[in-house]
Amino acid sequence: MHKQSSTALNQLSQLDRQGHLKHLITLEGLDKATITALLDRARSHLRPKAARPSHSQALAGITVGNIFTEPSTRTRASFELAARRLGADVLNLEIMLSSRMKGETVLDTIRTLEAMAMNVFVIRDAEPGVGQFVASHVEDHVSVLSAGEAHLSHPTQGLLDALTIRQHKQAFEPLKVAIVGDIRHSRVARSGYQILKALEVGELRLVAPPGLMCDANEMPDAERFDRLEDGLSGVDVIMMLRIQKERMALTDIPKESDYFAQWGLTHQRLKAAKSDCIVMHPGPMNREIEIASDVADGPQSVIREQVTNGVAVRMAVLEAVTQSRPVLELAQLP
Ligand code: ASP
Repeated sequence: MHKQSSTALNQLSQLDRQGHLKHLITLEGLDKATITALLDRARSHLRPKAARPSHSQALAGITVGNIFTEPSTRTRASFELAARRLGADVLNLEIMLSSRMKGETVLDTIRTLEAMAMNVFVIRDAEPGVGQFVASHVEDHVSVLSAGEAHLSHPTQGLLDALTIRQHKQAFEPLKVAIVGDIRHSRVARSGYQILKALEVGELRLVAPPGLMCDANEMPDAERFDRLEDGLSGVDVIMMLRIQKERMALTDIPKESDYFAQWGLTHQRLKAAKSDCIVMHPGPMNREIEIASDVADGPQSVIREQVTNGVAVRMAVLEAVTQSRPVLELAQLP
């Protein structure tokens, strides 16, 4: 049913006729100006730690539906908080929109939710193409946001990662960034690659054991490394990834202790990177498998900042997709 994956979407189909962001299914094709505007908007929602979080009624009258059919803690909570902090109504829906769905068809479900004035669908699904399928069938005033699509796309994660890097480094152009671990099955790696390329990062490295590296035709502008020490040498940013067991055959899953011995980011290995290198991880983290606890909690780790930035980024995206479609007042209706 959902033949096309997000990679087939181009920028135009995510923008409305005026060039405003309407859907966010993938970062592929989004230009630097659009991305930078979203990052700037997200930054405006950041507050000092002890201060009350950014709050407004910008989305009053808007209804956001969270449809997550894969487990999620951070993404789901942060989309919900982001919507509530902007004054939206939020519905967490226990339904399936993929071809695994039984009974009611996907389109019937969409129409039912639209009839209850759902304005934004936030969708996470293990099947490629669900977000795009929904986006191509919703009414004009309705937006679709991906909260993670199979191994392909996680656009708000890419944005929050870029925001975190921007907070610590002056500019993207001189940076060397290493994405490390299970790249093959990771939507975080793909969205990270897309956004860092758009932001013109100096050097992008993919660092993975051969079985966890993506195919040769994917992420063509990155340099590939099959030894951790080589890949980390002199980098400014390390993005660690979790082994996506749920997307792998049992026989392909590496033994945890072997993996840590060869691929775990330890304090010792981190010394190969620049001394002010930052360490990122999208979570959930597997301590002592892909990352040592003292590195995850160490002075170079920005993992908690990523979580904070996730709420700000999702607020920015929700504002962006709803602002060009204001809720009509009764008097304005025909
Ligand atoms: N939370 C991220 C994702 O949804 C990373 C992970 O699960 O490993 O892709």
